[in-house]
Amino acid sequence: MHTDLFIDGRWRPGGAGSFATLDPATGKPLAQVAQADGQDVDDAVAAAARAFASPEWADMTPSARARLLFRLADLLEEHADEIAALETSDQGQPLFVSRSISLPNAIEHFRYYAGWATKITGITAPLSTPGVDYRTRREPLGVCALITPWNFPLTILSWKLAPALATGNTVVIKPAEQTPLTTVRLAELVAEAGFPAGVVNVVNGGPEVGRALVEHPDVAKVSFTGSTEVGREIGASTGRSLKRASLELGGKTPSIIAADADIDAAVQGNLIGGTLNSGQVCAAYSRLYVHRSRADEFVDKLSGAAASMTLGPGSAPDTQLGPLVSAEHLANVDALVQAGVAEGAQLVTGGERAGGDLADGYFYRPTVFAGVRQDMRIAREEIFGPVLSVLTYDDPDEIAGRANDSDFGLAAVIWSRDIGTANRLAASVKAGTVYINLPPMLDAAAAWGGMKSSGIGREMGWEAILAYTEVKSIWTSLA
Ligand code: NAD
Repeated sequence: MHTDLFIDGRWRPGGAGSFATLDPATGKPLAQVAQADGQDVDDAVAAAARAFASPEWADMTPSARARLLFRLADLLEEHADEIAALETSDQGQPLFVSRSISLPNAIEHFRYYAGWATKITGITAPLSTPGVDYRTRREPLGVCALITPWNFPLTILSWKLAPALATGNTVVIKPAEQTPLTTVRLAELVAEAGFPAGVVNVVNGGPEVGRALVEHPDVAKVSFTGSTEVGREIGASTGRSLKRASLELGGKTPSIIAADADIDAAVQGNLIGGTLNSGQVCAAYSRLYVHRSRADEFVDKLSGAAASMTLGPGSAPDTQLGPLVSAEHLANVDALVQAGVAEGAQLVTGGERAGGDLADGYFYRPTVFAGVRQDMRIAREEIFGPVLSVLTYDDPDEIAGRANDSDFGLAAVIWSRDIGTANRLAASVKAGTVYINLPPMLDAAAAWGGMKSSGIGREMGWEAILAYTEVKSIWTSLA
């Protein structure tokens, strides 16, 4: 496969040389990937701007755009096993995650938005101004910069790319420097599907490439998924330049386990929610508030199940927990775990990297803390590793307040057999998504995004169509 930049329908080396992407299961290099410089970013944006204005793309019928997206979905499906294996080797996620979550979710996004391409309507409205007819059109924005993180590289790209193309925009993609390979592979399939040159461009590199895109005057919109810290920086820049921006940022999902919860279901759901993709999930279930009457039983069962998980390279068929993405991230996760110990939380299981055969990779043992207080760092900061913190509560009336005592508001979870309790809490928690008696789930039709410091805007569903279009009001004289 190519490892170059993809600009204006052509592959070319990077102006800034190349960088290595590593296999997190072994720490060894997987590939050298071209690194973009400022000129590459300028050329990619210029190519996308030309494609946006070209009759080939601008005048393409919605049904022809839909066919291209359906074709891209079919190609991804044809190559799903190969691309899942590529995601596993670059990102570390177990094959069951890349094969049964990452690839199907990406494919479904291209099909879902292919369906929308022919159904994007405006409105007519009865104005109180006499003698006019009034209607609206939804128009594409122009060149969109899509900047993605390393935890679900291909999947998160599809959340952005599919609606951006369905609505007639053109894009420049900047994948995370740790995990560029499936994005570059997707660009090959974009070319094979027959998208006109310049509609999709890929520039690889680190923060400086992302920054050059965000600051480029010919970029109309930035869609960013990543950390809250970088999201703030991008939001400040797009605020100054008045670019459109969607920011999908960090989380610290509270999971409330009521006294009447089905404990076995809650243990299983929280274990999945807290350790899926080694906890490198923005909605990872990481603050578990258990009613005191059930806390001992819950901690026993959860820590037992966590300790029995099989760690290993993502490519091994029995692996339940793969490595963390990088040595740097492993060090961050461990530092927060050590902070939990130092602040007095009870480490029930885990709390260390794996040794033996796994010592060269970035493996961290699934970790459960009990006796966690609301003010501890492990209860407040995003860890993005397989670390579950158990807090207890007594008064059901205080629990929504404690769940909301956080900078974040991406997702929240409620475990209760009582429909009234569950729905009351669902209305009170400040979160973009609430799961009731469920592990984390995503669906192309269900809006996704955060409140508070978890971001601005929504992806998926009709919301993403709104996010990649602008409304134009058209008034016509009836005289
Ligand atoms: P990150 O913010 O470090 O990097 C994300 C992307 O932004 C990368 O491509 C990076 O190169 C680029 N970047 C870094 N600095 C930049 C700058 N100043 N200007 C422009 N681009 C810049 O995030 P990460 O460590 O790759 O990803 C993990 C984070 O992503 C976690 O906080 C996680 O919660 C969040 N996330 C959120 C969601 C969501 O849907 N809300 C989904 C997945 C991940």
